[in-house]
Amino acid sequence: MQILRRIADLRAALRPHRQAGVAIGLVPTMGALHDGHLALIAAARARAGCVVATLFVNPRQFAPHEDFAAYPRDEAQDAEKLAAVGCDYLFAPAVAEIYPPGFASAISVGPLGDRLEGAIRPHFFNGVATIVAKLLIQSLPDCAFFGEKDYQQLLVIRRLVADLDLPVEIVGVPTRREADGLAMSSRNRYLDAQARRIAAALPKILAETAAMLRSGVPAAAPLAAAIAGLLKAGFSSVDYLELCDERDLRPLAAAGPGARLFAAARLGSTRLIDNWPVPPPAFPTA
Ligand code: AMP
Repeated sequence: MQILRRIADLRAALRPHRQAGVAIGLVPTMGALHDGHLALIAAARARAGCVVATLFVNPRQFAPHEDFAAYPRDEAQDAEKLAAVGCDYLFAPAVAEIYPPGFASAISVGPLGDRLEGAIRPHFFNGVATIVAKLLIQSLPDCAFFGEKDYQQLLVIRRLVADLDLPVEIVGVPTRREADGLAMSSRNRYLDAQARRIAAALPKILAETAAMLRSGVPAAAPLAAAIAGLLKAGFSSVDYLELCDERDLRPLAAAGPGARLFAAARLGSTRLIDNWPVPPPAFPTA
């Protein structure tokens, strides 16, 4: 696997593949890789002859009070994991390569970015959309892979690609989970043993609530009970726990086709997010 730092080198490396008609698959990440990320690489490997992962902790999607400086970074280990699963290129640019002095533009994603995560983290999706648009334009892939773990992000990126006529297929990949159902996340490594035990309540309560809502009963009482359940389990606070239409994130009063639960909750200083379709799949879905 070749590691590339410069946009010009990335373009030069990918050009011959494109000219030979080899499909290019892109997997953007912020590193601290786990099996969830590697599932995206496997999905890309199955669809594309040339697989490119990117590793860039994007300062523009962190607010000043968030964990940008502390975000886990271990490029050497990430590169080893990627090489082991057959990734062809790792693009790991410095911040100045992506945002050189004078950089001023940003993509505004509209109402999809205002709900749920966007309501709590106001500039988050504009930051995500700007970096993803840049990475797509830099690498010009045939397909790009994103996890359903960050379901709202997947929707925002589908919207971005449709709105900007970017010629790339966006592929969503199911969430990889630990044996107790906790969605794999780079931030799980912040959890100590006690917090890690409490964290398992999030998928469990989402799965139970999804099962309860499948018959189309009014959602308000089960949602309130789920929030109370998370707090009782030991979560410090719940940013949101909502039933939404998974196509446009419209809040739903009761489950119907395309209903999905979305949640974000805090365990001390660690913030976990997850989402669960209604009706629920088997638990856990690892
Ligand atoms: P991140 O490095 O957290 O920005 O994530 C990079 C990509 O990996 C995003 O498309 C995420 O949705 C995806 N991802 C993160 N965790 C998981 C998981 N547990 N299962 C599947 N995809 C994931």
